[in-house]
Amino acid sequence: MLDNLTARLDKAMKSLKGEGKITEVNVATTIKEIRRALVDADVDYKVAKTVTDEIKEEAYGRDVLIAVKPGELFTKIVYDKLTALMGGEKKEMNLSGNPSIILVAGLNGAGKTTFTAKLANHLKKQNRQVLLAACDIYRPAAIEQLQTLAGQIDVEVYAEPENKNPIQIAENAVKYGKENGKKVIIIDTAGRLAIDESLMKEIEEIKRVLNPTETLFVVDAMTGQDAVTTAKIFNDRINYDGVVLTKLDGDSRGGAALSIRRVVDKPIKFIGTSEKMDGIDAFHPDRMAQRILG
Ligand code: GDP
Repeated sequence: MLDNLTARLDKAMKSLKGEGKITEVNVATTIKEIRRALVDADVDYKVAKTVTDEIKEEAYGRDVLIAVKPGELFTKIVYDKLTALMGGEKKEMNLSGNPSIILVAGLNGAGKTTFTAKLANHLKKQNRQVLLAACDIYRPAAIEQLQTLAGQIDVEVYAEPENKNPIQIAENAVKYGKENGKKVIIIDTAGRLAIDESLMKEIEEIKRVLNPTETLFVVDAMTGQDAVTTAKIFNDRINYDGVVLTKLDGDSRGGAALSIRRVVDKPIKFIGTSEKMDGIDAFHPDRMAQRILG
């Protein structure tokens, strides 16, 4: 899978090797090629720049200038670097609460409601008693959507279709969950088409009142560079614990994973890989590095 990048880097180096000079200029050209590859994969430009600057330092340290196969060595350095940047210390979801409350936030269309149900399915398979709370009171049919998905996986939904106060619904859901022996309560919140102050205030307030065990931010991988901006704004307001990157079954190369990790420094905990209820996977930094590098 990494052949593409290796070929690109070999080419970049060869053109200069032909002149018999493997020099700093040569390395600079290769670094530029790596940066282009990252930007092509939707990595934020500024992130691509700092990451490639670091790769350059590393390349000198590793004597890439005298390597027999510099393209290959460069590719390995880049791959290892991306894997490390997206991995770090792997953090599992915190499920130590009794019950654990998981707050799910993000923009409309990101895949929040779908992920909420997928996560319930995932936890149910681990024999946990799960309750879903439908707190998206603005989007038409959001409650029905959650109920339909929950029906497919046989998980209970707490909803108050007449109530227009999502904070109250969330609180009531937690109370109901406690009374009925649920171990995990997942709260599906309202999104907006774009960032808006009333949405942010609402989600901040829900978080303050519920004090969730885990707050997850859901973002569509296909939105590329916009994903980073949204991830940053949500993090500044609600200081979430982890990121869910959805729609990775699409064409996206997944550069958002690297940018988000770099800009907000929060772990990506899950990825979405289909519209179906089993389309949820743990995040693997090495696989994502391969995907980004193509
Ligand atoms: P919400 O507005 O954030 O709650 O988003 P939804 O959960 O309603 O999802 C929006 C659309 O994206 C729906 O058509 C989902 O079926 C679809 N979707 C969600 N997650 C994924 C995913 O991982 N892969 C694909 N292909 N589609 C997804």
